[in-house]
This record gives sequence, structure tokens and C-alpha cells, in this order.
Amino acid sequence: MHVPLSVTTKSPAETKAVAAALAPELTPGDTISLSGDLGAGKTVFVQGLASGLGVAQRVTSPTFTIVHEYAGHYPVLHLDVYRLSSFQEVLDLGFEELSDPTAILIIEWGEAVAPLLPHQRLNVEIQMGGRDVGSAAPDVRVLTFWPRGGRWTEVLGHMRSTAETLLRAAGPPIPPEERWSVPPDQSVREYWNFIEPDRGN
Ligand code: ADP
Ligand code: MG
Repeated sequence: MHVPLSVTTKSPAETKAVAAALAPELTPGDTISLSGDLGAGKTVFVQGLASGLGVAQRVTSPTFTIVHEYAGHYPVLHLDVYRLSSFQEVLDLGFEELSDPTAILIIEWGEAVAPLLPHQRLNVEIQMGGRDVGSAAPDVRVLTFWPRGGRWTEVLGHMRSTAETLLRAAGPPIPPEERWSVPPDQSVREYWNFIEPDRGN
């Protein structure tokens, strides 16, 4: 079963801490797909993840060039497929580069090219504003991790314990029940059927 996990963050530093906690779990060939509105924090998440992967370069959205490549413990490929022409550009880029078994692939707006991505992967959805707060809490984000296949569900358990440690340093404490939650079972199938209706979820 693919068990999702949600975490609430209250600052960019907290989002980076959660992302950095994922880094030690990743191995070459992994794909992370990020979704969320413009300004949700996808690039902030990639910054935390990249620093956790040993990337020293500045990480920005690859808006004009479709892919940025960074050197960390492994090569890190960072794509942003926001623009409509992206699907064709990703195709033109070639599958070899996208499915590089020696690199970690991180893709903003990945759902736009979902059929091109490996079936086994981690989707991260970032929602702005939190569960019951409005503009009074502009820095609140809910990050939901949707694992599919392979070891991804297990990875989330490890990520959570590392994140709990890193979050202690990243901001004021909040009760665990406000920080973490597990979306209900039936939402898993609904989620993947929405992202990829015809892909045997
Ligand atoms: P995206 O790549 O999703 O379009 P960015 O990561 O570029 O979004 O921008 C996110 C913006 O939201 C940044 O200006 C960041 O400082 C701000 N922000 C505020 N609170 C958070 C949070 N909890 N997590 C991530 N970003 C946050
Ligand atoms: Mg971005």
C-alpha cells in the first residue's frame, strides 16, 4: 500500500528542513515530482533537497532553460515544466536524460508530464494556507507526500524522523498532531487516478 504523509510548515526554513530530511533517503535513478500553485514553495523545497544532497550551487527555477543540472553527492537534474510547450520540450530533451540512472530527477509541475515519468516515484503536493487558516497565516504550507511503488512508503517513515529533528532547529515547536497527518486510505486511489487516470493505480 502507498501510504501518504502530510506535514505542515510555517516558514521557508521549515520547508527546507523537511526537504533536507528526504535527501539521505534518495538514491540515483529516483524521481521526485512537485506540484502546487505558483509561489507555493516548490523551488524552496528543491533548495532544501539540493542542499541536503550536497549541492553548493544556487538553486533557482529553470524557467528559460528547461533543466538545471547541479553537482551534489550525485548529479541532480531540476526541471520546471510550467510552460505549455514543456511537454514537447521534455520529449525533445530525450528520455535518456530524463531517466538517467545515475542522477536524481526533481521536476516542478511534474503532473504536466506525468505519463513520461517513472511509475515508481514520490509526488509532493504543496498547498498554501494550511487547513483552517486564511491570509492571516501567509507562511503556512501543507506538504503532502504521495509515494508510489518500490520503497517510497518506507522512505517517508525515515524522512519523518529526520525531519522531526531538523524542524526543532528550524522554528518554534508545534504539537505533533498539528505538524503531521496521514490522509485517509481512499484518498490514495483518488489522488493517483486524478494524476494519471489510465496507468493502473
Ligand atoms: P514555486 O516554485 O512553487 O512557484 P517558490 O518556492 O519559488 O514557489 O516560492 C515560494 C514563496 O513562498 C517564497 O517567496 C517563500 O519565501 C514563500 N514561503 C512562505 N512560507 C513558506 C513555506 N512555509 N514554505 C515554502 N515557502 C514559503
Ligand atoms: Mg518554482
